[in-house]
Amino acid sequence: MREINDRMKLRFAPSPTGYLHVGGARTAIFNLLHARRYGGTMLLRIEDTDAERSRQHHAEQIVASLEWLGVAWDEGPIYQSDRIDRYRQRAIELVERGGAYRCHCTVEELEREREEAEKDGRSYRYSGKCRSAADRGESREEERFVVRFRVPPGPVDFDDLIRGPVHFEGETIDDFVVLRSDGHPTYHLSVVVDDIDMGITIVARGDDHLSNTPKHILLFRAFGAEPPQFAHLPLILGSDRKRLSKRTGATSAEEYREMGILPDALFNFLLLLGWSPGGDREILTREEAIEAFDLRDVHKAPAVFDADKLVWMNGQYLSRKPPEEIVPHLEPFLTVAIDDGERLLRVIRLNQARGRTLRDLAELIAPYFVDDETIAYDDEAVKKHLKGADVTRRLDALLEAFSALGEWNEAAAEAALRKLAEGEGVSAAKYIHPLRVALMGVGNSPPIFDVMIALGRERTLRRLRRLLEQLPLG
Ligand code: GLU
Repeated sequence: MREINDRMKLRFAPSPTGYLHVGGARTAIFNLLHARRYGGTMLLRIEDTDAERSRQHHAEQIVASLEWLGVAWDEGPIYQSDRIDRYRQRAIELVERGGAYRCHCTVEELEREREEAEKDGRSYRYSGKCRSAADRGESREEERFVVRFRVPPGPVDFDDLIRGPVHFEGETIDDFVVLRSDGHPTYHLSVVVDDIDMGITIVARGDDHLSNTPKHILLFRAFGAEPPQFAHLPLILGSDRKRLSKRTGATSAEEYREMGILPDALFNFLLLLGWSPGGDREILTREEAIEAFDLRDVHKAPAVFDADKLVWMNGQYLSRKPPEEIVPHLEPFLTVAIDDGERLLRVIRLNQARGRTLRDLAELIAPYFVDDETIAYDDEAVKKHLKGADVTRRLDALLEAFSALGEWNEAAAEAALRKLAEGEGVSAAKYIHPLRVALMGVGNSPPIFDVMIALGRERTLRRLRRLLEQLPLG
């Protein structure tokens, strides 16, 4: 039986400084699946306290991308910019408890200290000047100050759900700023205040945050709170084995959406970046993923983002999905007006295994819906299939036979064509190839009788007549 922990709470906490990065999307998916697996909840928090870099439209875009991906969080979105007073209040509380102090050092002073350290070849640490003054009970009345956290001595150890035991020496952690002189919190403060206030029990985030975690653990303790469990997700590398970046391809969920990737396929693909259900299983439904996923099984080693595999996987999803479910995803890519929804479903069914993206599929579908007068005949196909006097005679015979068909279905159409070929003593291909060019303009398509039915009688006959009027071509 599945273990249930309804106190369990995870969160995804993006900073709205750009589109939803695929790394962020994976973090969101892992948070969601772990919460679902154990009956916990997931919260969405927008970390927008950095007014210079955060943008409301990025936040909205991230929310929209998560919705598109089907990352259905339970609580939020909560905007940190709505909680600035709370962070300030908690910083003051920390000062009152002696866990932090006001620092009046100016930027210039700190710069000088940094330069001196560099000159002496020491790594820079804050001198602790204001900490000592605070220890002596000196207080200054100046308006301008930052609040620094008083880092307690000793190492910080924790058990990471993915990496196992992690150890940080105390000396590596400097007295860091928690509240800036403009009264805005730093990331360290807002993230810990929120994780406490919101009852977060597991923090799963990218391992670029690993060096922040000891600071956060110390802050949790200073507030008298039990630190959550941490899970640091391995990096995602590009095909060049370097950190995934624009250089090697698209990096945002939005770009993949625009390329014609289905949300389910992207979800499935990201799920396998650093996790595997075991065996060589690769295509999983969400329910199967929820059953099998556990943050503790995420790999330590970086994952490599293989965009070709994503496109392959998308093709798998596209070929398996019921056409009705494809329609809403396909609509933004359609370049032709759809006159008949039933006919669209039929055309999707005929073509869904032939394209790898929604863009491909939209392209494959267009010829079925374009105006018959606009069909263009591909040069290669013309050269191969429309040369010789026989072609006109055969297409004429097809036009006549199809016009006389009582029932418009695949079997009837095929029987009529085969009868003509047999009567002439040639292979059916001699009729099928020119017919295909007449109907689709190109040399390949799904089975031609299926195409005819998907086009309907009127269009089929019109397209045959139109080509006949233009023959000989080229
Ligand atoms: N806002 C941080 C980021 O986007 C994540 C913070 C966290 O998960 O603790 O990198």
